[in-house]
Amino acid sequence: MSGVIDVSRKVPPKLTLAQRLYLPEILRGMSVTVRHLARNLANMKRLPTILYPEQKRGYSERFRGKHILKTREDGSLKCVACYMCQQACPAECITIVAGEHPKIAYEKYPVVFDIDMLRCVFCGFCVDACPKDAIWMTRNDQMAFFTREDAVFSIDRLRETKEEIAEHGYGYRPYYPGDGTTPPSDASLLPVIPGTGERDRLREEGVKLPDRDLGAGPLNAPSQAQKAS
Ligand code: SF4
Ligand code: SF4
Repeated sequence: MSGVIDVSRKVPPKLTLAQRLYLPEILRGMSVTVRHLARNLANMKRLPTILYPEQKRGYSERFRGKHILKTREDGSLKCVACYMCQQACPAECITIVAGEHPKIAYEKYPVVFDIDMLRCVFCGFCVDACPKDAIWMTRNDQMAFFTREDAVFSIDRLRETKEEIAEHGYGYRPYYPGDGTTPPSDASLLPVIPGTGERDRLREEGVKLPDRDLGAGPLNAPSQAQKAS
């Protein structure tokens, strides 16, 4: 029957004497290993691997690593325990208990702020959700735990420290690029992708837009109305 391969009569090829002795094959395999070892030792700089932990990879400034809770100048947490990050967290790994702040201007502060790092998926939604820019992420990916309790970071391990930032640097944070505290001055000039009907009008007004009218792509797909006509 066409299309069916009969494998029932196939027998593995007979091993040669050298293969049955094993030793020549082992030596052949070892020679490949030694050849690669010698080549890598001669070209250490071109090695695809790094000597961790002495060497570390440089991560993007948008890297989503361990979180930090930002502080005000007086050292208190910027967090006002509004629960927005807890609500936004898809992994439900943030636990907050709010307390009344002695300063009436701040109203609330987190008595408990825990993040379960074993449940966290490092999506950064908590950073996006925070109205006070009180929670940022760092490029610190060194999180190893011996117990489950160890993986639950409370305020004392989340509070920003100069040492941690000096060692790892800031990662995902509001208002990038920049120091994370100020929106880009030209935010209003950032390019937007206008709807189809607006492009001609904007071009007439002298706004330079990328030419998206040509070529295939989801932006150029015909609308439902166009398809129906
Ligand atoms: S990074 Fe994502 S999963 Fe982790 S605490 Fe923030 S919102 Fe939750
Ligand atoms: S969203 Fe920001 S201010 Fe609100 S509880 Fe989370 S960290 Fe605190």
